Amino acid sequence: MQTLEKTEPIQELRTRLTEIDDIDSAASLLYWDQAIYMPSGGAAARGRQLATLTQIAHTKFTDPGLGQLLADLHPYEQSLPYDSDEASLIRITRRNYNRAVQVPAQFMAKLSCHRAESYEAWAKARLANDFAAVAPYLEKTLELSRKYANFFPGYEHIADPLIAGADYGMKASTLRSLFAQLRQQLVPIVEQVVGLGGIDASCLHQHFPEPQQIEFGRQVISQLGYDFERGRQDKTLHPFMTKFSTGDVRITTRLRENDLNEGLFSTIHEMGHALYEQGVNREFEATPLANGTSAGVHESQSRLWENLVGRSRQFWNFFYPQLQTQFAQLDDVSLNTFYRAINKVERSLIRTDADEVTYNLHVMIRFDLELQLLEGTLAVRDLPTAWNERYRADLGLVPPSDSDGVLQDVHWYSGMIGGMFQCYTLGNLMSAQFFEAAIKAAPAIPTQIEQGDFRTLHDWLQANIYQHGSKYTAGELIERVTGSALSIDPFIRYIRQKFGEIYQGKVL
Ligand code: ZN
Repeated sequence: MQTLEKTEPIQELRTRLTEIDDIDSAASLLYWDQAIYMPSGGAAARGRQLATLTQIAHTKFTDPGLGQLLADLHPYEQSLPYDSDEASLIRITRRNYNRAVQVPAQFMAKLSCHRAESYEAWAKARLANDFAAVAPYLEKTLELSRKYANFFPGYEHIADPLIAGADYGMKASTLRSLFAQLRQQLVPIVEQVVGLGGIDASCLHQHFPEPQQIEFGRQVISQLGYDFERGRQDKTLHPFMTKFSTGDVRITTRLRENDLNEGLFSTIHEMGHALYEQGVNREFEATPLANGTSAGVHESQSRLWENLVGRSRQFWNFFYPQLQTQFAQLDDVSLNTFYRAINKVERSLIRTDADEVTYNLHVMIRFDLELQLLEGTLAVRDLPTAWNERYRADLGLVPPSDSDGVLQDVHWYSGMIGGMFQCYTLGNLMSAQFFEAAIKAAPAIPTQIEQGDFRTLHDWLQANIYQHGSKYTAGELIERVTGSALSIDPFIRYIRQKFGEIYQGKVL
């Protein structure tokens, strides 16, 4: 009977968590509907409905009864191995609980209201190229972001609590030194590659009718392992992945008829996020374990499929004949011309359009500016100038307007300042480190990709990463899977090898 006594509180924990997850999933569905189908007349009521559900979920999750339950479960947790499912469930729930209760519900409501207003102001300001119009909102966001950080006293850098929200275990100081090493390696590579001359990418900018793009994208992601029985794909303005349960993980995509890159690679990218969520252990359903473990690891899974697989020569050796069947306008374009076009490196102004080599430079600019804003060493009014100076220094370009500069990304204008950008570079670094480990474990993967067989890679990711959900922190997962800590080396090796071959016929 002793076992029964021990399992009762864990059952109660599961019941409570399932209820909260049901409410969160309903909110996600309302959000998905808003992005796909909802007429604009529904916006005000939808905002209110989402706020209501979010508040109910927050109240339930921060209930002192849940805290008591977690305290009662502590001895039971200690009696289990660290990596057992139940110990992990208790540990991760406690971590999230401790974080959630630090921040008063009233503050969260105020922040959420301000975010919605700021987003509206940004959308207009970006169109009108009018930074001054959104600056007061950004001032307020900065003030709220600082206030939020101060609910977590004892930090080393004021950005740390904000970073921990997305990438638990990472700190400003660690990221600063990691990014400094990366920047030091990347800047000369960019100079070298750009100096080797441009690539003609005009083959990607012919007319590609939308229905055929969608059809080709669906063929590709089915073959890569996306389960349409447990997901679906729709069109949207800003692509995203959303999950209502492990049996229903949806993606959206955006297409342009004059740019083959956009739809194709955003589809593969979002599918990478979705494979992760579809692959989580079904036993974790409706608990905090049933999610990707951090923003950085999530991004590593989308980037791995989008770039390391989807922009590789092996991948196109297999898929290019199929693409040509779909689009006769590529009949006279050789595989090599196409492969070089999708991997063209150039100094550019827009992060989301950037290639694999320059992308991280865009991210690091934003990361550094975020830290300076939070530290108070940079004022909001000076942000556009600071932005333009960094673009000149790092990428050799100055944005002709703030719309193509400091106003281009939604993050600061609809979220907080701090913790918003590091995940993209972490994702790129981790994707290379994970992929290297996969190939080391199964050296046949590249040859299999060339034959259109993605099962070994998918199974490896499933076994080593997907199934664990949030059980391990990003740091623990990287150590377990690759045998070493996060490092820039695999990414730099990958870039030197791939782009050296494309641009010079040898490693850079
Ligand atoms: Zn992503």
